[in-house]
Amino acid sequence: MVSLPIQDLLPELTSIVGEPHVRTDDEARRVYGADALKRGYPADVVVFPGTTADVARIVQLCAEHGVPFVPRGAGTGYTGGAVPLQGGVVIAMERMNRILEIDEQNLIAVVEPNVITADLQDAVEKLGLFYPPDPASLKQSTIGGNVAECAGGPRAFKYGTTKRYVLGLEAVLPTGEVIETGGKVVKNVVGYDLTQLLVGSEGTLAVITKIILRLVPRPPFQATLRASFKDVSAAVAAVTGVIRKRVVPAALELIDGESLRAAADYLRDPSLAPYGTGAVLLVEVDGTPDAAAEEAARVEEACRAAGATEILRARDEAGRQDLWRLRRELSHSLRTVAALKFNHDVVVPKGRIPELFALVERIRAAYCLRIPCFGHAGDGNIHVNIMVSPDDREEVQRAREAEKVLFEGVVALEGSISGEHGIGFSKAPFLPIELSPDEIALMKRIKHAFDPRNLLNPGKIFPA
Ligand SMILES: Cc1cc2nc3c(=O)[nH]c(=O)nc-3n(C[C@H](O)[C@H](O)[C@H](O)COP(=O)(O)OP(=O)(O)OC[C@H]3O[C@@H](n4cnc5c(N)ncnc54)[C@H](O)[C@@H]3O)c2cc1C
Repeated sequence: MVSLPIQDLLPELTSIVGEPHVRTDDEARRVYGADALKRGYPADVVVFPGTTADVARIVQLCAEHGVPFVPRGAGTGYTGGAVPLQGGVVIAMERMNRILEIDEQNLIAVVEPNVITADLQDAVEKLGLFYPPDPASLKQSTIGGNVAECAGGPRAFKYGTTKRYVLGLEAVLPTGEVIETGGKVVKNVVGYDLTQLLVGSEGTLAVITKIILRLVPRPPFQATLRASFKDVSAAVAAVTGVIRKRVVPAALELIDGESLRAAADYLRDPSLAPYGTGAVLLVEVDGTPDAAAEEAARVEEACRAAGATEILRARDEAGRQDLWRLRRELSHSLRTVAALKFNHDVVVPKGRIPELFALVERIRAAYCLRIPCFGHAGDGNIHVNIMVSPDDREEVQRAREAEKVLFEGVVALEGSISGEHGIGFSKAPFLPIELSPDEIALMKRIKHAFDPRNLLNPGKIFPA
């Protein structure tokens, strides 16, 4: 908890945002003190600014009184990034949720941070434009949270992650100044690239208040198919085959047998995990109808050559949504396996995916754990979900040991311990597995340059 009596801050916070936009009730403190990691810490106060000027004044007030503060989007983060570890003020950005501009000539959108990802996608798609980043949380997560985490998703293989689309930002520094980085131009090499420094900074360097995004033309057509295989190795062989045929699908998702069985149970649809199916690939290609059809045929060839036991092709949009439903419901489906998920989004060079699965198999056997895996095979980013019963302390302990072995193994495979979800506080102890002491020291100096008093989102990224 902060040393300052929080009551002292309330009149000024109220004068900045108005009484309805300051909450200190237990429910708000609890809800806004946690995210999808489900290991929260109560905020002292939750404030809901309406403008950049509000944010700047809140930050200045916190800086003046030495009170920690944490920006928050939708709270779907998986690593505790939005958790106010030291109490203080949660700056919940939800009132700043307007799409300010869609510039069709310059292929740009300007948004406030709390625009929901799917809402932006819908708005631009109506104009024949496309905002590709598609985290599975897109119906809840915000663009601000996506930028802060550099969110990815199935389309990252072809279209890249959020950072590829961020051209400029407006942000409030922890010392209260408002800065504008980048702008509406695609080329800009003036000075250090502060825009990209803030992207993926997990709410530790500045509070983002406006975002300028690059858009691309909407692909006119998608062809989607699902191929079943007897095991993960065959599915990975198909991935290699697809790439060898020089097809870069918009999505290339791999789902292992354990995840399929969870989805079949959760969605009460046994056909999702037929006997003998140990892995599934969900593949989507996009472009003009002719180009997409031709690429889909090449994908089918690669899957058959790798031993696909069944290939289903969506015939229309409803069929496409049906195929995607399996992927979108996977996270929720894992609830049928166990109540607690240690959700790891490790990434390896895609040629090393078989070695990653072999590593997981060894961990599964050695630690006697349930570890359903699925993810973005196209870019080697696999979600390794260590499932445990929270009341089984011994199992939780085994899972804790297993995750360290996983991270060490992934780094040994030239991979990274997080491809999407960031470090937050849950992965902070593992940072030295991947980064050298010199890199960590440099990052800490950058943090210090932005936030000399360590008031913005303290306790994140760096090991204590
Ligand atoms: C079911 C489910 C599926 C998911 N699938 C994916 C996926 O496919 N790909 C993926 O990358 N992630 C995924 N995630 C993780 C999560 O949705 C992303 O990290 C997302 O970007 C978080 O957005 P948010 O608005 O919820 O941010 P929050 O959780 O509120 O915050 C995340 C971080 O961003 C900071 N932040 C938020 N807003 C701002 C701001 N305006 N200025 C500065 N910092 C800010 C916070 O301080 C925090 O550190 C998934 C999560 C769930 C629950």
